[in-house]
Order: sequence, then structure tokens, then C-alpha cells
Amino acid sequence: MKLTILGTMSPYSKPNSACPAYLIETDKARILLDCGSGSHRFFDMQNKLEGLNIVISHLHRDHYNDLFNYQYSSFVLHRQNKISKPINIYLPTLPQQIVQDIKQECHAFCCYYPISQHQELEIGDLKINFMKTEHSREVDTYAIKITEGDQVLTYTADMSFSAKDKISEFAKNSNILLCEASLLQNYGFPEINSHLTAKQAGIIAKQANVDKLILTHFWPEEDLENYLREAKSVFGNTIIAKENMIVDLNKKMEFFKNENRFLCR
Ligand SMILES: [Zn+2]
Ligand SMILES: [Zn+2]
Repeated sequence: MKLTILGTMSPYSKPNSACPAYLIETDKARILLDCGSGSHRFFDMQNKLEGLNIVISHLHRDHYNDLFNYQYSSFVLHRQNKISKPINIYLPTLPQQIVQDIKQECHAFCCYYPISQHQELEIGDLKINFMKTEHSREVDTYAIKITEGDQVLTYTADMSFSAKDKISEFAKNSNILLCEASLLQNYGFPEINSHLTAKQAGIIAKQANVDKLILTHFWPEEDLENYLREAKSVFGNTIIAKENMIVDLNKKMEFFKNENRFLCR
């Protein structure tokens, strides 16, 4: 299983960055977890749209804004006979109005499927599990676990620290915990917020006994080293997600696309 980071910022992106999006690939499956604003620029639309499955954790704009780019691209590339099968899009069922807007898009070559608590999907050689987490009253939000053989990656999506025990159980012994860390302790928010601090991400990684913690969902103006320092004070094996970073779970290494820069850990 290979993870490519396409977006890490919220609520807006800056040059060379995008809002949350993560591409998971194996020989037999291709899954895009979320597609936040600007993230399609890091996706190889021409070569990777065929056979794509898109899974949206929740319907906040920073996680699905680029869905319309994928829908429209699927429509055009299908008309050009460049893709033969519809794109599969898996969505929460709430808020209904947003789901309807997405499904009513006529310029799309897509199929839509609802996701729900405790659902298990099989896509190619991947198994996908969902757990409803705590983030927003109005917007259903799902943590997502992806398994290929003995390799496991868990994505927290956006979440409150109130769901710490649930997510720790769900992500137990994962190889990778891809965890939101929107906040820092010194921002002065109460411990229970709709988002996590980097330290809280570290606490969850430790409780879940994961191999590696990858932090994401950063405030665009913040120095990323501050997130890293705070999480590492609790959980040592932590790295920062960056656009174009590839984490190869088979080879246990990280490297950057288009650069001869390998970061073996
Ligand atoms: Zn959110
Ligand atoms: Zn978000």
C-alpha cells in the first residue's frame, strides 16, 4: 500500500499546498480519501482517473470542494473515450442538501454510494472500515481504516478529543495513523474542541499503539515545526504530511515525488 499526500492545509490553501486529500494505491485499487480545495492539482487526472474510488470523510468544504473537478473531468474524459468505467464516490448521508447537490451534478460520469457506521467495503485488495467520530453536530464525520493484508492505515478525518478512546480502539496497532492536528496547545482553546491539538494527536497515537503518526490538517500560516515538536513530546515516531510526499508501507520509507530525496526511517 502506498500513500501519496495531496493536501494538508485547512481552511484554505497556499501556493504548493492544498486542503486535505490522500491517495491510497495498491496494484489492484486506487482510493482517494477526501478531496479538499486545490488538491486535484496534485492528482494525475489523465492517467489515474480510470478506476478511481473517492471516499469523503465528511461534507465540510475543506474536504470535498474539489469533488466537482473530478466529476467534471470524468464527464469530459468519458466523452473522449479516455475512461470507460464510472468513478465511484462514497459519501456520508448528511447533510442531505449537500449530498443532493453533489448527486444532481449532471456533468459527471460517477456512481454514488452512502457510507455508514460499521460498514465494511472491499475495493480490489483493500478492506475499508468506517467509524463515526465526533466533530460536528450537523455534519456526519467518519474515521476510515484501510487494510491490505497485514498493512493498516487509519485516517482520523476531523475529530474532537472527546472521541479519543473510540478512535484509539478503532486504530489499534495500525502501521500508520494519519491524524488531524489543526491546533496547538498554546492557542488557548479548551481541551475538548471540534479539532485536535498536535499533542492530543500524539496521545491518541500512543494509546492506539501505532507504528507511525503522520500529522495533517494544518493552519496555513503556522510554522509546521511547532506541530511536530508538540506531538513528538508525547509520541516519538511522528512526521509532518507534505504535498507530494509518498509513504510506501511495503518498503517502509517516505520520499518526495519528483525529487531524489529519500527519507528512510
Ligand atoms: Zn471538518
Ligand atoms: Zn477539515
